[in-house]
Amino acid sequence: MSQRSITSGWSFAIARLSGVIVVACVIGFLLHALVATVLAALAVYLAVMLWRLHRLEQWLRNRRTEDPPDFQGIWGDIVALVMRIYRRKQFHKRRILELFREFRRVTTAMPDGVVLLTPERGIQWFNVNAARLLQLRRKLDYGQRIENLVRDPAFSRYLSAADYGQAIVIPSFIDPNIFLSLQIVLYGAGQQFLLVRDVTREVRLEAMRKDFVANASHELRSPLTVVTGYVDALADDMQIDPAWHGPLEEMRRQAQRMRAVVDALIELSRLESSTGEAPLTPIDVGGMLSFLHREVLSLDKRPHQIQLLLDANVQLLGSEQEVHSIFSNLITNAVKYTPATGSIVIRWWKDDFGAHFSVKDSGAGIARQHLPRLTERFYRVDPGRARATGGSGLGLAIVKHSVQRHGGTLEILSEEGVGSVFTCHFPPRRLVPNIE
Ligand code: ADP
Repeated sequence: MSQRSITSGWSFAIARLSGVIVVACVIGFLLHALVATVLAALAVYLAVMLWRLHRLEQWLRNRRTEDPPDFQGIWGDIVALVMRIYRRKQFHKRRILELFREFRRVTTAMPDGVVLLTPERGIQWFNVNAARLLQLRRKLDYGQRIENLVRDPAFSRYLSAADYGQAIVIPSFIDPNIFLSLQIVLYGAGQQFLLVRDVTREVRLEAMRKDFVANASHELRSPLTVVTGYVDALADDMQIDPAWHGPLEEMRRQAQRMRAVVDALIELSRLESSTGEAPLTPIDVGGMLSFLHREVLSLDKRPHQIQLLLDANVQLLGSEQEVHSIFSNLITNAVKYTPATGSIVIRWWKDDFGAHFSVKDSGAGIARQHLPRLTERFYRVDPGRARATGGSGLGLAIVKHSVQRHGGTLEILSEEGVGSVFTCHFPPRRLVPNIE
């Protein structure tokens, strides 16, 4: 309905009203009852208007079942306008309904579970798979807070930490042999949804992989000890043909490398299989670092300047063996990758954020693109060089794991050709209180 036709509808209505008044005036004049006739004509006109208004109201109330009234002029225009608005609304409603049905079909077909949550983490809606994996009941559980239905300490910690970058894996409370991955995804204005996946297969494969590595390395260790023993004996035997000295030395070096790899794999498997955080035994970090410093100073091939700065006398709460392995791995790497003319600074200090251990070297440094992958198993920047230095490629993986078991983080800063700084940050809860 165009603006023009409504305007013409109004002009027609005004013209008709004027016509009624003019005709009433003429009749009233002829009958000598001008006022009474005009009033009577206006009353009839008003009655017709009221009747139409009543019909319109009746139709608007029952427009689903009733046909629209057949009005002319402005009333007809109003009916047509209402019909248009109504049809447009119906069209949008059908579209939204269709989209909603499509959305439900998609989420039902999805292999993952989805739970829509309010900003307060109340359940708004969930799909079939979420209901199956988390045993949610349609309608009954709507409005309930998700943490009241998924009762798991790890999930509660995950929610309170509010760091949803990664998913967490928990055993299902319906069947502990099933593992679920849960992840909160934020969207819109404070809205969130929970993504639930059955990761039992992945968890089993990962466990099998760990078991395989642990078993294989344990099986290799004993024969390797025998081989190393014989090679050592032969290499030290003075009566052996001098032509064999070179090959025997090489065999001894390679056997030692194999031993280092096997030992590192066993250590990594042990770290991976130990659940929870490291124990809380007080460790004299100052004493341990002084010992390691003396040890490294006694090496023949080392950078000429190796400094130890003990800026805090604070003790760490953790596993002595793991902390020793963290320090010794980082110091050994600095020695390995720094030339004799370079320098190394080992530092232990404390601040409001906790205690920190760093090893800074003026060695080869590491190019930026390698930094994110450095703590992966067997990742080496320069495989040839790393093998030549006798590295297992597992040292930093062990360091990262051990630091994490102490609630800490490993930070790596490095610039190619300038040097590297490896820093372990330990939180205040891992320090012996009041001893400075
Ligand atoms: P590796 O036993 O081969 O040293 P790591 O896991 O300890 O294995 O280290 C992984 C890789 O990181 C090394 O191969 C080396 O390329 C690099 N890297 C580690 N520490 C340093 C360092 N201080 N300076 C330069 N590169 C380093």
